[in-house]
Amino acid sequence: MDLGLTGKTAIVCAASKGLGRACAHSLAREGVNLVIAARTERPLLETARLISDDTGVTVTPVIADVSTEEGRAAVLAQCARPDILVNNAGGPPPGDFRDWDRDDWIKALDANMLSAIFMIKSTVDGMMDNGFGRIVNITSAAVKAPNDILGLSNGARSGLTGFIAGLSRKTVQSNVTINNILPGPFDTDRLRATIEAGAKQQGKTADEVADARRTQNPAGRFGDPDEFGDLCAYLCSTQAGYITGQNFLIDGGAYPGTF
Ligand code: NAP
Repeated sequence: MDLGLTGKTAIVCAASKGLGRACAHSLAREGVNLVIAARTERPLLETARLISDDTGVTVTPVIADVSTEEGRAAVLAQCARPDILVNNAGGPPPGDFRDWDRDDWIKALDANMLSAIFMIKSTVDGMMDNGFGRIVNITSAAVKAPNDILGLSNGARSGLTGFIAGLSRKTVQSNVTINNILPGPFDTDRLRATIEAGAKQQGKTADEVADARRTQNPAGRFGDPDEFGDLCAYLCSTQAGYITGQNFLIDGGAYPGTF
């Protein structure tokens, strides 16, 4: 299927690794030129080179922390009117809510709620004027099935989800859609770090914990980031103009509900 995206431009936040990188790569395979952001220079430049060598699109790397106003301004300075925006940032640490103070909550809100809202605020009107726009927010399966130790993530991402539910119905008439993708366990650096932390806590090896988590999943495996990236690319396609305000769980069937 030709997704109709050749020559369009996307901003992909938090895209040097993992799910953000996979979204950027899938869009690039469809001929989308990219502005990609992350905080650490080396992996960001490596990813930009890898994607442009593989696909031939223009990839502009921006070293930026998208949870800050300066970081977002640096990204938008490279592309003020993107056709596509993929919002993403690192997830907050796990823990017990009794240990979190106001600063911990503000950091989580900045990264996993407000960064996306402010990126949308800066770009959505241009998309509506153009009569085309696709916005995808990477959230988490924890929005649908909360995990108690991920309270910062559950709270901040639910706030973003509620905001998107309202806004996405106001933009679709201008062919601007806004959707969220909710990852279950995907094989990325973040998942590996979480598994290692869990292994230490339980006195097991990382392999033992990873095997147990794979076995618990109905698919018997972790997700491949490319599977995630291709869903993102489809939601950004010209064909997906009637899909807005939705939350797409991609978790190998881990969520046990009928709906
Ligand atoms: P990852 O493999 O650790 O990659 C995170 C990427 O985001 C890196 O490129 C990182 O680069 C960048 N980044 C992090 N914070 C940033 C910031 N403030 N500004 C700019 N770039 C930033 O993580 P992932 O597994 O792809 O996860 C992506 C998101 O999905 C996270 O919010 C995570 O919590 C959520 N999630 C993941 C899973 C999973 O199984 N993988 C499941 C549920 C939810 P720098 O560090 O250099 O900035």
